[in-house]
Amino acid sequence: MQISQQQLDLVNDRIRALVEAGSFYGKKLAEAGITHVETPEDFTKLPFSEKKDLRDAYPLGLMTAPEEEIVRIHSSSGTTGTPVIIPYTAKDVDDWAIMFKRCYETAGITNMDRIQITPGYGLWTAGIGFQNGAEKLGAMVIPMGPGNTDKQLQMMQDMKSTVLCSTSSYALLLAEEIEKRGIKENIHLKKGVIGSERWSDKMRKHISESLGIELYDIYGLTEIYGPGIGINCEYNEGMHYWDDYLYIEVIDPKTGEPVPDGEMGEIVITTLVKEGAPLIRYRTHDLSRIIPGKCKCGRCYPRLDTIMGRTDDMMKIKGVNVFPSQIEEVLANFNEINSEYQIRISHLDGKDTMRIYVESTGDVDFDALSKRIAEKVKSRIGFTPIVKVVEVGVLPRSMKKTARVIDERFD
Ligand code: ZN
Repeated sequence: MQISQQQLDLVNDRIRALVEAGSFYGKKLAEAGITHVETPEDFTKLPFSEKKDLRDAYPLGLMTAPEEEIVRIHSSSGTTGTPVIIPYTAKDVDDWAIMFKRCYETAGITNMDRIQITPGYGLWTAGIGFQNGAEKLGAMVIPMGPGNTDKQLQMMQDMKSTVLCSTSSYALLLAEEIEKRGIKENIHLKKGVIGSERWSDKMRKHISESLGIELYDIYGLTEIYGPGIGINCEYNEGMHYWDDYLYIEVIDPKTGEPVPDGEMGEIVITTLVKEGAPLIRYRTHDLSRIIPGKCKCGRCYPRLDTIMGRTDDMMKIKGVNVFPSQIEEVLANFNEINSEYQIRISHLDGKDTMRIYVESTGDVDFDALSKRIAEKVKSRIGFTPIVKVVEVGVLPRSMKKTARVIDERFD
């Protein structure tokens, strides 16, 4: 989706602010001689921002507004190495709450709802983002934070919570506990707003059915405000995102070139009005695509598809970008096989070949099953793989998802 003139003007404001502040990116832009962009083509030539840069700017190198205007910092959970610190002005905090309020509204949540928030509070952006948005909406917040399932379920019943905000894994745990304790008739939940970690359709269906609630996927990352920059609507065909606050591009992660709308690639985000730490062309390494055309709900906000994984997982086969998660989702629909699989990609006689190994018990016709799986995979990714069904226990067990993909083309 090409950047609009209005968005370009906002980008120029941000470039000016960065350069004037002489912050980490301000210096980078100044060194590159960039003072403004005229056209959408100019914009696509702006350098990307990377997580590594953000770490290099530790602790407060990203700060672009004067200290007296900074009201808060958040930090992304650095599982490895230096964390990233993002400073927020009062306006940033408010803008974030406005976006989050829109998310709730898009999910049909109102000021008559009671919102139980289970993501964590603290340095990271989760709990407080859910809370500020809910307060902006005027709903009643039940700020639980994570853990303590007994207390969660007690409050959920006593307060008659109607909305659950959580990760998919915690929603699943609560659903199972509710079932186990036989307290479903005391639960008043109608909706779940679930954080953006990737989850399978099977899990979604399971949570939705066992709790009897509608589920909404919320998107966001600490570097760009936090959760609340996008959510799916009642039609559940991708997540609407707020293009008055953000400009989103999808690029080919290998070449850095923009891909046409509808095509899968890496999400790159530019903040249009952020003051504390504006980011230009930030590479998220999240994979998705822009869904072309207008949504059935009539909202004008553009849409991103569900996050399909991380760029590190992507494979390019026969010129098509393929992700293990796409294959995994297809396989999950076959009850005849278990969850183990292996993907082998090779290059023979000038052609790429993808072989998928799956495990099944001996009670099924292996040939017929592999044909059916191959057809389903083809309808998902666009070409036919070779599927081999093997006996249970044949494939190597590994905790690491990446070890399930073996690319023999570059050996
Ligand atoms: Zn919609």
